[in-house]
Amino acid sequence: MSDLANRVDGVMRRSRAAFETYRTLTGKKRAEFLDAIAAAIEADSALIVSAAMKETNLPEPRLAGERARTCNQLRQFSAMLREGSWVEARIDTALPDRQPLPKPDIRKMLVPIGPVVVFGASNFPMAYSTAGVDTASALAAGCSVVLKGHPAHLETSRMVAALISKAATATGLPADVFIHVEEPGFEIGKALVLHPLTKAVGFTGSFSGGKALYDYAQQRSEPIPVFSEMGSINPVFLLSGALTARPTQIADQYAASITQSVGQFCTNPGLLLSVKGSELEVFKKELAARMQQIAPAPMLHEGISKSFYSKRSEALKQKGVHLIVQASEAQPEGQGVPTLASVSGKDFLANPHLSEEVFGPYSLLVEADNLQELLQIAAQLPGQLTSTLIGEDSDLQGSAALIHVLSDKAGRLIINGVPTGVEVCPSMHHGGPFPATTDSRFSSVGIDAVKRFVRPLSYQAFPEDLLPEELKSSNPLGIWRLYNNEWCK
Ligand code: NAP
Repeated sequence: MSDLANRVDGVMRRSRAAFETYRTLTGKKRAEFLDAIAAAIEADSALIVSAAMKETNLPEPRLAGERARTCNQLRQFSAMLREGSWVEARIDTALPDRQPLPKPDIRKMLVPIGPVVVFGASNFPMAYSTAGVDTASALAAGCSVVLKGHPAHLETSRMVAALISKAATATGLPADVFIHVEEPGFEIGKALVLHPLTKAVGFTGSFSGGKALYDYAQQRSEPIPVFSEMGSINPVFLLSGALTARPTQIADQYAASITQSVGQFCTNPGLLLSVKGSELEVFKKELAARMQQIAPAPMLHEGISKSFYSKRSEALKQKGVHLIVQASEAQPEGQGVPTLASVSGKDFLANPHLSEEVFGPYSLLVEADNLQELLQIAAQLPGQLTSTLIGEDSDLQGSAALIHVLSDKAGRLIINGVPTGVEVCPSMHHGGPFPATTDSRFSSVGIDAVKRFVRPLSYQAFPEDLLPEELKSSNPLGIWRLYNNEWCK
């Protein structure tokens, strides 16, 4: 075995050993652990935020917000565990006299899947990284976690990892319930995904990274689920009534959304679409004027800004694409320049490259000939995290066909808002059909994110004392269960 293979094998064996203990603990015990992590992060908030500021170029208010979101996520999972009904207990009691065959007693609930490998995301150094939603949901499920820290914010990741380990010790859990791997590079990530003790993977980042990890997992002799959240261009359909009624308000909203955090959000509105005409011309001028005034700003790291300029330049070279505005002619090193371009509906339809993500403060405005062409474009779009309609009541009343098409394309439909800003709550779905994610059935935000890391297990003809608490007839945990087809406690 190579050195790397040896190291990965050691890590995964430790993780599996911790899982064997951790999976037997009660939901209340796991909730205590998640609460202790949140409290530890809050106690060291200033230090963590300051480390993240140095490493990511993100401003203090944004990182303070992300810190609050991270703790909020952890606490939403701990509340879910304390309440307990999330395990989806189903009980069908025996019918020994049923003819022609007796029916056995069958009970089912969700159980943890095993050690999970999580890849920290570069654009959310806290909320999608070390103690972020993938880690929090896997720990809530009862899985141990091996976290590959993102090299772009390793110090922040190390600090948060130390707090998770401290919380594990303080709550009497095995130390290896969470293991931080600091080694950068594709080889370690690949080896972690391929290791036979890894049972699932959580990832947020590039399409190439997320798809590569998915492919490794499917090539294993025992394939495993990989939940990769990858690119999305989040189409926004600007309907004519709205453009006539409030062009400046929409331009304000969208100039801010396209450039927020230098465009480094997976929900960034990278594609605006409308029917051409005088109202679109007015809106285009308003949006361009605002974007022109937004100064270039530092991106997360050198690699991301290089990739932004190379993808932007590729996009601007495509047939029929016109630059409308770039806030600076120079490409200041490490910074992202707000950029707006346009293309006709026909050229967009003919060129699938124009549907690829340009990660950064960039948006492409598609000018369709008519509503029919807009609908044709919507039908041709690849899977998305979100799709948005901006319209007056009269626009929206006539948009049933567009909404029908988009509901097959996106994980979240928005009316008269912006796609950036993902509320953390149970009704939020953050996911979408491929290539937005590798599994459109699951969300990486909200308590339902836990469902990625569990599997159903049925217990047939088990005596009461051998059943888990969640499935005992006396319902000692007082949780909601489907009992002989009726919901009850
Ligand atoms: P990334 O390149 O996808 O990397 C994320 C993590 O996965 C890193 O730890 C990386 O390892 C690892 N990784 C990537 N490809 C791999 C492979 N083939 N095999 C094994 N491990 C692999 O994402 P990033 O570094 O955050 O940013 C790069 C680009 O991703 C950005 O320019 C942007 O286009 C896109 N991005 C998109 C989103 C989104 O939400 N849509 C978010 C962030 C980034 P190492 O870095 O350690 O080598």
